[in-house]
Amino acid sequence: MEKILEIKDLHVTFTTYGGTVQAVRGVNLHLNKGETLAIVGESGCGKSVTSNAVMRLIPSPPGKISKGTIHFKGQNLTEFSEKKMRMIRGVDISMIFQDPMTALNPTLTIGTQLMEGLRKHKNVSASEAKKKAIEMMELVGIPNPEERLKQYPHQFSGGMRQRMVIAMAIICDPELLIADEPTTALDVTIQAQILELFGEIQKKTGVSIILITHDLGVVAKIAHRIAVMYAGKIIETGTKRDVFYNPQHPYTKGLLNSVPRLDERGKLQPIDGTPPDLFSPPKGCPFTARCPYAMEVCDKVYPEQSVLSDSHQVNCWLQDKRAKHILAESASKSF
Ligand code: SF4
Repeated sequence: MEKILEIKDLHVTFTTYGGTVQAVRGVNLHLNKGETLAIVGESGCGKSVTSNAVMRLIPSPPGKISKGTIHFKGQNLTEFSEKKMRMIRGVDISMIFQDPMTALNPTLTIGTQLMEGLRKHKNVSASEAKKKAIEMMELVGIPNPEERLKQYPHQFSGGMRQRMVIAMAIICDPELLIADEPTTALDVTIQAQILELFGEIQKKTGVSIILITHDLGVVAKIAHRIAVMYAGKIIETGTKRDVFYNPQHPYTKGLLNSVPRLDERGKLQPIDGTPPDLFSPPKGCPFTARCPYAMEVCDKVYPEQSVLSDSHQVNCWLQDKRAKHILAESASKSF
């Protein structure tokens, strides 16, 4: 499969008065053309920072991409000037932010905001821009598009505003769409409609999607592959089937156990403890302090990636052949 995006050994740091936060610590991942990759993990794990790094939207200072490469269609975005990035943002790579109200300007009509990017980047006439805007509004399911173009954001419901934000993101026909928690601010029924919309847009346009979320329900609906992030690192990647039916990292198992299920009764199992301090992250596995399987080696050395299949990889000593002789230590503990 053709890779549209490839991130290698990405490090992002933020320098503060309290020290340097190592927000992203050696992320490796790729996105195939036409697929949806979900990056999941709890707040502060580095998923939004990773996607902002792809857009080169890390505020500098205090932030910086301190190491690594981000290749989009073979070109390394980390070497691009700000001017060159401005030509790419919104055109080749678009981003949808989580709160549709703050993503829209309340003082401009929806039509002005929708057509602005198109006129700026594609150099089209006003009538062509209007035609495309109406087409996009129809695609995202806004009724009476011609009338709605003249209205302001406050005249739209939350779900409709999010549809408009999606229309703005895809109006220039991007090849990569990054959606950062796109349904968090919406109620459950509208969430389902927006997720279906992503699927429809992908079918019609072939756009590749990175979905940032902490909601595994969202992932189950639309992702093809999943990357699980913890403390600035990708700790497990696989297809939806790999991760949901055969999770191998204790953190992934913990995430799945903490999701309420209609077909299972009983108490939810939270993951005890808190993530490590990223001012001084641990040398070894960052999940050690919370992991019921932790061994002596876990705290000392970060586990290398174990390849379980072509699609499924995990960073955990439990999957490392060299750690077999010390597994007995954890046998008495149960997850
Ligand atoms: Fe647990 Fe060790 Fe695996 Fe980390 S490497 S998840 S501490 S068993």
